[in-house]
Amino acid sequence: MKRRDFLKIASLGAAALMSPKMLFAQRKSEKRPNILFIMSDDHAAPAISAYGGFLADIAKTPNIDRLAKEGMRFDNCFCTNSICTPSRAVILTGKYSHKNGVLTLDDEFDGTQQTFPKLLQRAGYYTGVVGKWHLKTEPTGFNYYNVLPGQGLYFNPIMYESTMPWWNKEGTIWWEDLEAVEEGKGGGKQYKGYVTDIITDVALDFLKDRPKDKPFCLLYQHKAPHDMWEYDEKHAELFRDVEIPEPANLFDSHAHRGMAIKRCTQKIGRNHTLYEDETEHLSGRKRKKKQYQIYIKSYLRCVASIDDNIGHVLDYLDKTGLTKNTIVVYTSDQGFFIGEHGLFDKRFMYEESLRMPLLIRYPREVKAASVNDDIVVNADFAETFLDYAGLSVPGDMQGRSLRPLLKGRTPEDWRRSMYYRYWMHRAHFNIAAHFGVRTKRYKLIYYYGLPLDARGARERPTRPEWELFDLEKDPREMYNVYGKPEYSDIAEKLKAELVRLREEFEDEDEVALI
Ligand code: CA
Repeated sequence: MKRRDFLKIASLGAAALMSPKMLFAQRKSEKRPNILFIMSDDHAAPAISAYGGFLADIAKTPNIDRLAKEGMRFDNCFCTNSICTPSRAVILTGKYSHKNGVLTLDDEFDGTQQTFPKLLQRAGYYTGVVGKWHLKTEPTGFNYYNVLPGQGLYFNPIMYESTMPWWNKEGTIWWEDLEAVEEGKGGGKQYKGYVTDIITDVALDFLKDRPKDKPFCLLYQHKAPHDMWEYDEKHAELFRDVEIPEPANLFDSHAHRGMAIKRCTQKIGRNHTLYEDETEHLSGRKRKKKQYQIYIKSYLRCVASIDDNIGHVLDYLDKTGLTKNTIVVYTSDQGFFIGEHGLFDKRFMYEESLRMPLLIRYPREVKAASVNDDIVVNADFAETFLDYAGLSVPGDMQGRSLRPLLKGRTPEDWRRSMYYRYWMHRAHFNIAAHFGVRTKRYKLIYYYGLPLDARGARERPTRPEWELFDLEKDPREMYNVYGKPEYSDIAEKLKAELVRLREEFEDEDEVALI
């Protein structure tokens, strides 16, 4: 038996010793908390002022910051596969991509599998998901859903509510038949207005209409600030005459790194075709600077709308007396490059793409304005919610409850490293498939460069290569120290740890380490 499984069973043992009367008394005294899980799409931590990054002084997010002021800020929360659909599947199941079946954007989520909303629903929670879903198959485990089809639209979005048909007669999803959607026969309902406002209104309706005798779990998930960064009229003038600060490595030449970053095509000034018209008269540094300003302003305007809307929801919790007994989480499905290394997307294991913002407020247990720097991952969320709901954690989940960390007591045996894997070889922005390990101080990345059987991956392999970063000396990951004699011992140790993690999570395929 693995140690983790033993610990899980041991913790259940204490409950087994109690008589039914004692258990009832315990449950009655511990009112189960509500769970409000707020997730945005592609929201980088430096674009939240509570994180104190390079945009903190200019782009304030007072409402999201409230969760940090009144709860805990996690500084080392990482995504196990930095891309939308896979991250969402990890969060729902508490399992890594190779276990939940969603390795890439092209995979469909198997809705018959175990998820935390399903387990909460079975235990009497009233469950819902509103906004961005992005898992293709119909949401399961929810009493109510109202979600965008695929990426959804920023303006006048069509949404699919649980009462509407998800599949058409041919067995395909309604919204895949775009002609039918345009003719108004696509099964969904079109809302007038801006998507972030609409998702919030739907979330507030869920909270108002819910049965009041049950705890709720709502997944309130924004489309913004995903590309194409379409902001609303209300925020159009924000930052108009302001020069937004640039990240320190906007002009990274990508020297001293492997081929993967050199070959990638998500470079501001070179591949940011969205702003061609406004910048075609410019070249070199000027072009890059201008494209960065247009990009970051659009991005931050989308964020400003999220922040306003979260303010409305937090006000609602206050007004209705729900604040004290509701766990509020704010996160994003992964990190994002907002100009660091001159990039504008995600997928890489580099810090900006790997790191997820994570703020959790729960006044009953979490000290206000606390900060945690332990290594946590998106696979931990499911177990955390089950723990708070008083449910046992299934042995096949692969994360760990964050509850002790939230209480300010990190267990002695908390993880000291995390495992990452990106499967979609060269599919978008020509980024090679890779996996790696990150500890507090180091990061080792292996670009194995093969499509394997990952859906959507491109056939042509790339030459395998390693990158090693000393994050203490080089937090911006500008110097690959792999192959340097002074790092040979640590490289070997990290390789052994990578092999160990792959065994622990049972991600053992034919990829051989060179
Ligand atoms: Ca995303």
